[in-house]
Amino acid sequence: MLDRFCSASTWERADAQWPSHEQRMLTCMRVCAETHDVRTFVFSTREGHFSFEPGQFITVSAEIDGKEVSRCYTISSPPTRPYTLSITVKRTPGGVMSNWLHENMREGVELKAFGPSGVFTPSSGPAAKSLYLSAGSGVTPLMSMTRAALDLGLNRDIVFIHSARTPEDIIFRIELSNLCALSDKLRVVHVCEALGSEPDWSGPVGRLSLDLLKEHVPDYREREAFICGPGGYMDACRKMLADGGHDPARYHQESFNFAETVECAEAPVAEASAEPAAQGGFTVQLARSGRSFTMDASQTVLVAARKAGVPLPSSCSQGICGTCKTKVLEGSVDMKHNGGIRPREIEKGMRLMCCSRPTSNLVLDL
Ligand SMILES: Cc1cc2nc3c(=O)[nH]c(=O)nc-3n(C[C@H](O)[C@H](O)[C@H](O)COP(=O)(O)OP(=O)(O)OC[C@H]3O[C@@H](n4cnc5c(N)ncnc54)[C@H](O)[C@@H]3O)c2cc1C
Repeated sequence: MLDRFCSASTWERADAQWPSHEQRMLTCMRVCAETHDVRTFVFSTREGHFSFEPGQFITVSAEIDGKEVSRCYTISSPPTRPYTLSITVKRTPGGVMSNWLHENMREGVELKAFGPSGVFTPSSGPAAKSLYLSAGSGVTPLMSMTRAALDLGLNRDIVFIHSARTPEDIIFRIELSNLCALSDKLRVVHVCEALGSEPDWSGPVGRLSLDLLKEHVPDYREREAFICGPGGYMDACRKMLADGGHDPARYHQESFNFAETVECAEAPVAEASAEPAAQGGFTVQLARSGRSFTMDASQTVLVAARKAGVPLPSSCSQGICGTCKTKVLEGSVDMKHNGGIRPREIEKGMRLMCCSRPTSNLVLDL
């Protein structure tokens, strides 16, 4: 039963069904207010249903004030409910996309999105016991994982500690409490920094600390830890767990801010160049569109394509989000990614164009 939840092959059809580089149109079916500044948008698709791994995100795009804007949002619904897909968005003060979604998404409105991507999923750390730590909108990937585990009837051993500013800022509060009633192995603890408008709040007040963790999760060292929230929160969690003797190899985190991603995954060693970079560089052919351009190895394929007027799907430009994942049909590249592609995808010949430089002429599946 453990394997079913933690194995990527359970959700494998995700890649085949809606590749991360393919843009589709979603139709908004419903909008739910979760808190005063957080809403869930529920979408359907003409293609019928969705498949993805719990914890993955999609990249949505919209034309806002005459500019095409793209942002990543984690899928908060579970893959076990495949006929709709939800994202849960917190308004960012002054933020372009989050406010646009809050103001414009209504039943029947369409939204463009690239397919699911990301490696913050149960398969990145298979384990019998999990510790989910989240703050603010960082609850979304862990909510998808929790819902999926419960839907599959796995009764997995999950302790979920969510931090919020005040009780009224707790996202999915009622649902999480209902889920606890369904499973004797799911435990949820909400930690609030302040009481806000709920002076009779009986849960822990303050910030998550090692003492609080030890009190509520005495066996935390035995658990695979999945953390998502603001940068400062995740730094504090990482330190807290390390101070408490938790194995850092069992620590997994998802940043909602690309600039905060500091760890660089090891890049696969590029094959030696079989062709000289002479003759003005390398030729890149796009097999499906029949277009081509030339470039040299000083720039990434994505940048060169843009300069040549060939638009490729992309979002983060840092090898994190996976939107520009493309199959290299012929040739080789030197890729330095930041976790946006899995080893099994690399084995299948996929590469991220935003962090790949050619080491030979290329034919891409685009
Ligand atoms: C993998 C991933 C998953 C995510 N999942 C979620 C999720 O489930 N839910 C969620 O709510 N968010 C999620 N996010 C965050 C989301 O992608 C957006 O970053 C967030 O909604 C803010 O986008 P925005 O367009 O509203 O803000 P932006 O327009 O990007 O602005 C962000 C901040 O920068 C400031 N700013 C903007 N432009 C300027 C400027 N020119 N000068 C100075 N300051 C400026 C704004 O005032 C604001 O404070 C996720 C991010 C990633 C990477």
